[in-house]
Amino acid sequence: MERFIDLHIHTTASDGTDSPSRVVALAKELGLGAIAITDHDSIGGVAEALEAGKELGVEVIPGIEISADYRGNKAHIVGLFVDHTREDLRPVLDWTVYERAMRNEKIVGAMAADGFHISLEILNALYPDSILGRPHMAEYLMKKGYVSSVKEAFDRYLGEGCPYYRDKERLSMEMAVTAIQKSGGIAVIAHPLQYGYDEVELCCFLQTGKDLGCAALEAYYSEHAPEEQAMLLELAPRMGLGISGGSDYHGTRKPHIELGAGIEKGLRVPYSVLEGLKALRNN
Ligand code: AMP
Ligand code: FE
Ligand code: FE
Ligand code: ZN
Repeated sequence: MERFIDLHIHTTASDGTDSPSRVVALAKELGLGAIAITDHDSIGGVAEALEAGKELGVEVIPGIEISADYRGNKAHIVGLFVDHTREDLRPVLDWTVYERAMRNEKIVGAMAADGFHISLEILNALYPDSILGRPHMAEYLMKKGYVSSVKEAFDRYLGEGCPYYRDKERLSMEMAVTAIQKSGGIAVIAHPLQYGYDEVELCCFLQTGKDLGCAALEAYYSEHAPEEQAMLLELAPRMGLGISGGSDYHGTRKPHIELGAGIEKGLRVPYSVLEGLKALRNN
């Protein structure tokens, strides 16, 4: 039987709702061939996941998803096979965590000034081990009854163009890719169709990624329609890029996305994708 994998997963170390060991247990239940833990700007969940993987016999790839900048827009770079025990990622992560904290303060401060009962102290107490982000704020606003769903919190208050949206300084793509490589990993351009580029812009973006040292792109992704997946599977090798894929599982914070299966089971990433990435890593 063919085994499927999931190389893009968030845990409670960033803005997922399942702990790293819970994710591994779930992967075991689902019979997945391998998973990668790729928390936003954090490797905090990797050690626990590796440990659980050893115990349960699940192949776990240590990873990360770094929020970087491409010409003023966000560009997410997934790092796979990073060595979480080395300090190479530390300066970059410290910087992103600091910028994120400054941004969080601006959002929460503006909301509090307008009378919302919210503060960083409250959020830190509720989510002590997480890299705090807008999803946590959205969930808190829902718990307090300000909105009826996380989606409404983003639509009314926290999303781009909303009154409490604040941008953060992002790391250059170059710094993100270099940090991933220095920690022994390979860099993957995450969800390349999420940035709203037309065909020409997409090619420029991917070429830049390639030139900076990215090894692959995510062709398999929960939100890709079958024809988009096919287009990327064809485009990647033409651009000299390998193929990766994953669901972007966030637990109940993105309840429509299933681990290893995406939206309405529309995602299937074959194990051979991981073999291809391992070959790239050894190049
Ligand atoms: P942050 O990194 O704090 O800016 O938050 C970004 C995260 O918010 C993304 O990784 C998504 O998980 C989540 N997110 C962004 N937009 C939405 C939305 N409209 N509904 C739900 N979650 C969202
Ligand atoms: Fe997220
Ligand atoms: Fe992302
Ligand atoms: Zn993600």
